[in-house]
Amino acid sequence: MGEKPKLIVNGVRTDGRKPGDLRSLKITAGFLHRADGSAYLEWGENKILAAVYGPRECVPRHDMNPYKACVRCRYVMAPFASLEEHGRSGPSRRSIELSKVIREVFENVVLSEQFPKTAIDVYIEVLQADGGTRCAGITAASVALANAGIPMKDLVSAVAVGKVDGELVLDCNKIEDNHGESDVPIAFAARNKDVLLFQMDGLLSKQELGKAFEMAEAASEYIHEVQVNALKEVYEKKKAEIEGENNGV
Ligand code: ADP
Repeated sequence: MGEKPKLIVNGVRTDGRKPGDLRSLKITAGFLHRADGSAYLEWGENKILAAVYGPRECVPRHDMNPYKACVRCRYVMAPFASLEEHGRSGPSRRSIELSKVIREVFENVVLSEQFPKTAIDVYIEVLQADGGTRCAGITAASVALANAGIPMKDLVSAVAVGKVDGELVLDCNKIEDNHGESDVPIAFAARNKDVLLFQMDGLLSKQELGKAFEMAEAASEYIHEVQVNALKEVYEKKKAEIEGENNGV
């Protein structure tokens, strides 16, 4: 890992941000045309594609639940996603764990009782990674699910808060993640602020944890806005296309 670099100098972080700043976030919904729903997200140096299929026939059949849809999730990182090429692109311990926690997030928001015996598949492909990819993946997948028309209690917005050089910072990048003292990814349901994912690396005091939650919650409102705008854009484009066709007749 090498020697720990100084991560905050005169209140400014390695990438020029203040402690409470997010990296720039851009989301395009409906990015892929073959999947039922999709989203492409750029969040700082993270580049992530999310695609959703379903509700569809549940294969293998032993996954099938007679009372609700089976929500499945696959998070993977491309071999070229980070600074060091990381060899094979198949599932690793890390990607299996992340797929599981992300699946649990969506099991709690998708209205799966409406689609018994079916499967809803969520694929998250990390093309470029720079820290915080689980939160970015959740944020993208939530837009992809909505884009697929899957009914949900709410959109999910996720962000991590970290502690670096003794200070709480929003949305850690990879250097901060590697050398920081703590990293706490949190996912919120947009409306009622249900916490759908909460993990913690390192240590925080009770006070710091409270502050970290506040920072993440405030940031989740902005993230939610970006998600909603991405979804609106798709419908506005469709609407304009239909109106154009009608005018052409
Ligand atoms: P998150 O991306 O949610 O912060 P981690 O804390 O596990 O998840 O990883 C932090 C960062 O470390 C990732 O975003 C990525 O840049 C890098 N990373 C993690 N696992 C690998 C891996 N197997 N190969 C290459 N880089 C990795």
